[in-house]
Amino acid sequence: MMYSGITRSVLAVLLLFASKLIYAGFIEITLLGTGGPPANIERFGPSTVIETQGRYFVFDVGRGTTVRLQQAGIPLDKIEHVFLTHLHSDHISGLADLWLTSWIWQRQNKMKVFGPVGTTNFISHIEKAYTEDIRLRISNSNLNEDLSELSVRESKLDDSVVYNKNDIKITAFHVNHGVVKQAYGYKFESGNRKIILSGDTAYSKNLIKHAQNTDILIHEIAAADTLLLERNNRLQKVMSYHSDPESLAQVLVKVKPKFTFLNHVLLFGVSEQKVLDKLNSKFDGEIYFGEDLLKISIGKSIVITPPN
Ligand SMILES: [Zn+2]
Ligand SMILES: [Zn+2]
Repeated sequence: MMYSGITRSVLAVLLLFASKLIYAGFIEITLLGTGGPPANIERFGPSTVIETQGRYFVFDVGRGTTVRLQQAGIPLDKIEHVFLTHLHSDHISGLADLWLTSWIWQRQNKMKVFGPVGTTNFISHIEKAYTEDIRLRISNSNLNEDLSELSVRESKLDDSVVYNKNDIKITAFHVNHGVVKQAYGYKFESGNRKIILSGDTAYSKNLIKHAQNTDILIHEIAAADTLLLERNNRLQKVMSYHSDPESLAQVLVKVKPKFTFLNHVLLFGVSEQKVLDKLNSKFDGEIYFGEDLLKISIGKSIVITPPN
């Protein structure tokens, strides 16, 4: 449909597989969940995983993240690094499931969680909530007790490098999520490639600064029908701390991403096509609506594989 020009042939898959084997800098992004708070079978809660060098980095853990990882064929025991953009429930409600299920599936190292101030408090409470389950599994199934603990690092509003190893650098940067002052986007850099995840944000100058000339921008979107918006105070509030097509277009013009994928999709009486038309009228670049289980493979070129 909107993927005109995207290669779907078996030959392309084989070439991709070969390039993954021979190209050391290969990066694969899988959009696990592209929705927001509404419970939607098509769009699970926000979550994105980036893989490179056999390491997996999960950004946000919304509703159903573990199910989507399984569907994507990503081994749960390899999930050791989790980065939270902020502590709204739609971004963290899947964490207990991912943490415990990966432990049961023999994860070999502690899961490390990075997030804004408040993350330590959140983690300590979910650890407490599952005390009985953990005790039972250790005594009945010989699961490793040390690995049942979560390792947490939280940081204040400053922009800071939160992971830097083997040519993989991840930077947390402050974004503009209204009353949620503790809200981050993330910059993932490896080789000469750059990926930006916006998290939840309205127009953010700081995002524009970090995202200059990025290869991939994964950005939230919210759009509402004008009449609906006029009549609904609560919707006006929601829209004030998210990015509508108008403000996102300004971001795109300033950032000039090679590819943009819209996620955390919140549409109120507006079609996807209308949003794309608006964005395309202001910015001449590749813009797609993200879909759960869509893959973006970054080797010498960038290949988008829609979900099966
Ligand atoms: Zn959200
Ligand atoms: Zn939020």
